Amino acid sequence: MNPTTIKTTCPYCGVGCGIEATLIDSEKHIVNIKGDAQHPANFGRLCSKGATLGDTVGLENRLLQPEIDGQTVDWDSALAYVAERFSAIIAEHGSDAVGFYVSGQLLTEDYYVANKLMKGFIGSANIDTNSRLCMSSAVVGYKRAFGADAVPCSYEDLEQAELIVLVGSNAAWCHPIAFQRIRRAKESNPSLKIVVIDPRATSTCDIADLHLSIKPGMDALLFNGLLAYLAETGSVDRDFIDRHCRDFVPALAAAQGSALDFDELAAACGLAAHDLAQFFAWFAKLKKVVTVYSQGINQSSSGSDKCNAIINCHLAGGKIGKAGSGPFSLTGQPNAMGGREVGGLANMLAAHMDLENPLHVDRVGRFWGSDRVANRQGLKAVELFDAVADGRVKAIWIIATNPVVSMPDADKIKRALQQCELVVVSDCIANTDTMAFAHVKLPATGWSEKDGTVTNLERRISRQRPLFAPSGQARPDWWIVCRIAQRMGFAGFNYRNSAEIFREHAALSGFENDSEHGIRDFDISAFAGIDQAQFDALPPIQWPVTARAMHGTARLFTDGRFYTEHGKACFVPINPRAPFHATDADYPFTLNTGRLRDQWHTMTRTALAAKLNSHKPEPTVEIHPADALRLGFRQHGLAKLTTRWGDMLARVDIAVSQQPGSLFVPMHWTEQLSSRGRVGALVNPVVDPLSGQPESKQTPVRIEIWQPR
Ligand code: SF4
Repeated sequence: MNPTTIKTTCPYCGVGCGIEATLIDSEKHIVNIKGDAQHPANFGRLCSKGATLGDTVGLENRLLQPEIDGQTVDWDSALAYVAERFSAIIAEHGSDAVGFYVSGQLLTEDYYVANKLMKGFIGSANIDTNSRLCMSSAVVGYKRAFGADAVPCSYEDLEQAELIVLVGSNAAWCHPIAFQRIRRAKESNPSLKIVVIDPRATSTCDIADLHLSIKPGMDALLFNGLLAYLAETGSVDRDFIDRHCRDFVPALAAAQGSALDFDELAAACGLAAHDLAQFFAWFAKLKKVVTVYSQGINQSSSGSDKCNAIINCHLAGGKIGKAGSGPFSLTGQPNAMGGREVGGLANMLAAHMDLENPLHVDRVGRFWGSDRVANRQGLKAVELFDAVADGRVKAIWIIATNPVVSMPDADKIKRALQQCELVVVSDCIANTDTMAFAHVKLPATGWSEKDGTVTNLERRISRQRPLFAPSGQARPDWWIVCRIAQRMGFAGFNYRNSAEIFREHAALSGFENDSEHGIRDFDISAFAGIDQAQFDALPPIQWPVTARAMHGTARLFTDGRFYTEHGKACFVPINPRAPFHATDADYPFTLNTGRLRDQWHTMTRTALAAKLNSHKPEPTVEIHPADALRLGFRQHGLAKLTTRWGDMLARVDIAVSQQPGSLFVPMHWTEQLSSRGRVGALVNPVVDPLSGQPESKQTPVRIEIWQPR
């Protein structure tokens, strides 16, 4: 018999590569992985992480049985216990006394029902996601400019551009297959210009015509300067601005107000004036420009403003809604976008509707058959754990994420969970740092067992299909949420499979669609009648997907109409702000955190692949040679890093890629994997006031040679 081959989607980054998995031995979980040549995200290519997925699907480190207080129990007991405890706490303290903290690893169907339970029936908006840490500033940027959280571009725009600007993005390591598409575009079109704006000289710079090693935190100032330059040099598209935009004049005034003399601007950004001039000239002259941005922009106390400073320049040049043009944020996780669609953030409702809009609340309430729909924003990630710490939130359910490692001020998360009345953790992994604090452990299915959909960073919905039957007593996340919802006495959760949830989610996206376009910002109503066989065979497709766009939509705003009430895009006046905490004599360096090429998040899966561990086997701190020399550090010596929030040890890696005065530490290591500490404990918890996204790229830090006692 020929082995079975199943098409599914990579569970790591937001590129969303298609995979063909050929089952060799289902009992032993042996599978061959290769890229799906037909998938439009990757056309058969996979990066190191995707290619080694077969090494990560065994049963080692899996949670396979429900547990209460360390005792194995059956599902009936676990579900009844969680439902009773949540119900009792809500009855005594109100619906805002509970919270869910979920994950961009969840399928859209899991996200949908978790959001429906919390916002629709418990009646609180206290559900937030670890995607808050990676892309919530981009969401604010899009909503302020376009009236909706809608990524305008597709990967094919990268291949049609004349200039690609990568700002705050090490795509070569963090979105490798998207980066490979850029590299190939450059190889086949040598006139394509690539500009990388990043304090670090990352691997992404390997293909750059120009690397602007910007001073950390100066991005909004730089893009304000670009806007002023475009106006001064007559490089704005007046016709586009007049017909399709609002508020150009105040945005330009703000840009001119913050703008310095050109040489002063270059100096403030830490750049050579001729390099800055070259970038501005290319942006002004070339018609097809894509600006790719990621965590270096988003993870900032002014991340939302940085996003809008970039978008302003695209609107000014009319560089949007056209082939090869647009502001293109890269989401980090496989389904951060799916979570945005169903409202898996504390400040969104569902189907991109708003909590503060009574019409939206009424519409969703009638659709769900509930009169308890939340009508005000809930607690965003950092606020949510603050509320756990001070006892306002008495029960927290953490689903598929590891906040004890990944949140800023991560030791505070430990203390919060230690004194919380009820901590429920559902995960496929048994031994995460967070699981150690769980009163109740609920075993969830892993990637190779999941069945549903994810949406990648270019709005493309793809199927994740199961390769194996669930292991042990593991159950899908949607199943666990729905069974607990039913035991809490709520109707509307009797789904039998993920296809039924997807159908409902699609129907809600088009329910009472009253937009002038006939297409709401997020609308996949064409799938509202999809049957099981169609769901099983669903090909990758980009939303919106409606009766008028049955094959999906590659590019948004091609008609110059936006999702605002007036149909016009909005310029946003930007007043640049420095990072919230400045360096000083006690903490003289700037700590930057981020991803490595071969690891994913808190390494619960990638650490299982020996090949991936060989890239960087332990936590390191990158430091510039001049700083290392001045402070007496030797390559591979041990350093102690200290901030106002915590400390850790790391192996010294002297790197010319690092700017003097700044340090880089990877985000991945946990206490399970390294006794030297985790970088999350060092990161300041300051957030962007609009997006709630933490400033994970700029924490003042001290570094010393570590002397064992
Ligand atoms: Fe997976 Fe991202 Fe690599 Fe594609 S680029 S194989 S989605 S980790």
